[in-house]
Amino acid sequence: MSDEVDVPEDHPRYQSLVTRHRIEAGVEKGITSMQGLIAEGRGEAFDYLLGEETIPSADRAARAAAAHFLLGDHPVISVNGNVAALVPEEVVELAEVTGADIEVNLFGRTEERVRAIADHLREHGAGEVKGLTADARIPGLSHERAKVDADGIYDADVVLVPLEDGDRAEALGEMGKKEVVVDLNPLSRSAQVATVPIIDNILRALPNVMRHARDLSGASRTELEAIVAEFDREAALDAAEQRLREGAVADDE
Ligand code: ATP
Ligand code: MG
Repeated sequence: MSDEVDVPEDHPRYQSLVTRHRIEAGVEKGITSMQGLIAEGRGEAFDYLLGEETIPSADRAARAAAAHFLLGDHPVISVNGNVAALVPEEVVELAEVTGADIEVNLFGRTEERVRAIADHLREHGAGEVKGLTADARIPGLSHERAKVDADGIYDADVVLVPLEDGDRAEALGEMGKKEVVVDLNPLSRSAQVATVPIIDNILRALPNVMRHARDLSGASRTELEAIVAEFDREAALDAAEQRLREGAVADDE
């Protein structure tokens, strides 16, 4: 990728340095906001404490998320400036594998940034990218933050909202949507209100959901429904919090 930094792969902080550089490049390209830079720093701190790996409970959450996406009538992946900068190809691929729509949805919405993100996703292989029409509103939120596409997030029954702010996650839940949240902070309100909270780095979570979606592509509705029913969101949040507070021993079952 041309906007990739020249970091030696054997550097012990390789992944982290590449991640920071992608966010930096995102800001330069007008797709990531200054708020996004701060969110990245917060995320990194949690990832250190998690051990920079997918813990078993997050893997179970990723499997439940894949099952929700395969069961859904209209799954949508919501994309913000950090997600677009970090994992554009993975978003496109997950949409393909699960038949989901992609919609740009920003906390600090500007037409220009929505357009820049949609262009960036198309450069990485996306077909249709929603979010520019903005002809529907999420009830209970102020004007700019409520804007969504009527045939996109507004109509969705399952939404993947990575790195979403708590307010909007809550409002989407109140609309009756199933919400898959990817967030490194299990105490964040977005994670707390999710149907399926995946407490993991988006860099690891999206490929993992995709792997499960491929694995489950031949599964019956009954099997998928069983995976959804077995998933325990409270247990997943607790396991992640325990890992953060007490270290590596907490979540090995
Ligand atoms: P709230 O309690 O309202 O959710 P917040 O402090 O979580 O508030 P957000 O704007 O939602 O505010 O913060 C962004 C979230 O994204 C943070 O919880 C941060 O840990 C998380 N985050 C940042 N980078 C990543 C990443 N690469 N993968 C997953 N999560 C990330
Ligand atoms: Mg949050």
